[in-house]
Amino acid sequence: MIRRIPAQKTLDPVVADFCSLLSERSSSYCGDIETSYGSRLSQSTDNSIYQAIPQAILFPRSKADVLAIMSAANKNEYKHLKFTPKGGGTGTNGQSLTDYIVLDMSRHMREIIEINVEEKWVRVQSGVIKDQLNDFLKPYGFFFAPDLSTSNRATIGGMINTDASGQGSLVYGKTSDHVIELDAVTVSGHNLSTKKMLTSEALKIANSDDQNANIYRQVYETCFSQRNKILETFPRLNRFLTGYDLEHVFNEDLTEFDLGRVLAGSEGTLAFITEAKLNITPIAKFKTMINITYDSFDSALRNSPF
Ligand SMILES: Cc1cc2nc3c(=O)[nH]c(=O)nc-3n(C[C@H](O)[C@H](O)[C@H](O)COP(=O)(O)OP(=O)(O)OC[C@H]3O[C@@H](n4cnc5c(N)ncnc54)[C@H](O)[C@@H]3O)c2cc1C
Repeated sequence: MIRRIPAQKTLDPVVADFCSLLSERSSSYCGDIETSYGSRLSQSTDNSIYQAIPQAILFPRSKADVLAIMSAANKNEYKHLKFTPKGGGTGTNGQSLTDYIVLDMSRHMREIIEINVEEKWVRVQSGVIKDQLNDFLKPYGFFFAPDLSTSNRATIGGMINTDASGQGSLVYGKTSDHVIELDAVTVSGHNLSTKKMLTSEALKIANSDDQNANIYRQVYETCFSQRNKILETFPRLNRFLTGYDLEHVFNEDLTEFDLGRVLAGSEGTLAFITEAKLNITPIAKFKTMINITYDSFDSALRNSPF
């Protein structure tokens, strides 16, 4: 099939102005900025059937760069601009596409920052690729357990935002089960760090003058006051793919609260994830393959746990 190359659209002058602000000497932004038609066209697809040509692509190098972008974006003249985070672009629903500005985290934000073997965790930038992480972890005898078919391209940021899982998920669970802490940047240009905490601590933040107090307040109020409805409405599925995971913001007896559970699976709609502290799993010493035979496809389906 021949795919037609869309006609070149001229660059929105406000976007051009925004990009030149970021590239000024006085700007703290250190990443790349691309606005050529070739770059825009190459970033206009993912693994979906959709195509949207962005106006510009920004390639941040660090959390500081993402903060610089979002604080510039909060100037009045740029408030109508839209920004979409992108990882490896392997998503199948066009979630990382936009006709405004793409923040591509996969080019530079690939640092594996810290590993703690005793406590079984690793801290990475969100553009680290899943296979890159596992190659790094192998000599330590560990791996990052959530799996997916696109592991040689998909980034940790993309995996968190789609709550990816695949082969082995019945044993190892999904990506959100392995996220310990997240560092993110909000649309208002603030740093947002998440981790599991006592509900009383979350309430303290919600009622403080913390720059993210309103986020804690909103998530706490919605998830607490609507708890019964949430439990009644959403099916008890192992993998949560029906909107924000409001149920698991709290643990079962409501004593613990984790804002990160709402960011995981949010498809880039809530914040730009810049770093993640992830649980790592020891590589199994022995592997066994079990072959189960069924008399029909239907009986195999009926027997598969969900
Ligand atoms: C052939 C094929 C097989 C696949 N197999 C599986 C599978 O086995 N299991 C599975 O779960 N999925 C699978 N997928 C889907 C896809 O690979 C996953 O959704 C993957 O996690 C996406 O990662 P990515 O880095 O490519 O993200 P992208 O496609 O770039 O982005 C996905 C979403 O995450 C957001 N995002 C990306 N990075 C960030 C960030 N740093 N901060 C905030 N938001 C961000 C984007 O805005 C977008 O909404 C498959 C896809 C294909 C094409």
